[in-house]
Amino acid sequence: MPDTNESALTHLTKCRLCKQDITKGTEVGPAIIGENQQNKKRAKYAEALKSHLASKHKDKVVGLIGAGHEFMELLGSMYFETTDPSINRDMERIRAVAHRTTRKHYMPDPVIDDGVARLNLDPFAEDLVKQFAKAMRDALCEEGQYANEIFKEPSLTV
Ligand SMILES: [Zn+2]
Repeated sequence: MPDTNESALTHLTKCRLCKQDITKGTEVGPAIIGENQQNKKRAKYAEALKSHLASKHKDKVVGLIGAGHEFMELLGSMYFETTDPSINRDMERIRAVAHRTTRKHYMPDPVIDDGVARLNLDPFAEDLVKQFAKAMRDALCEEGQYANEIFKEPSLTV
């Protein structure tokens, strides 16, 4: 059974915006039979963060509420299909932003170049493998030619 005061006493949470430590409101409290303590802990944690944002960073809350509503729209739309290209474009934009915002890893070119160089391939094969690895990374991370239009550089042509 987890320590009911674990989140407040043993782990630090610091606001990235103002560097304030978040210590109040994260205590889980005594265990209740049938209650999922981890869910309760996560809910308390989220509530403490929301409270901090609401009191110290109101401008961020407006954006979060809008993003939350858009994400709910996206999830709801996944049960439907439409031929309306403007709606499909909007939903794809919301999905692409969520994907990029929540992406945990991205492998930059020098890491790929170094990893492929260690394979000791002939220069032609090494170049092909590097190109393929970068194309695979771009497809999975939705970068480069696979990026949503909103992330692409504005065209220089008029
Ligand atoms: Zn803060």
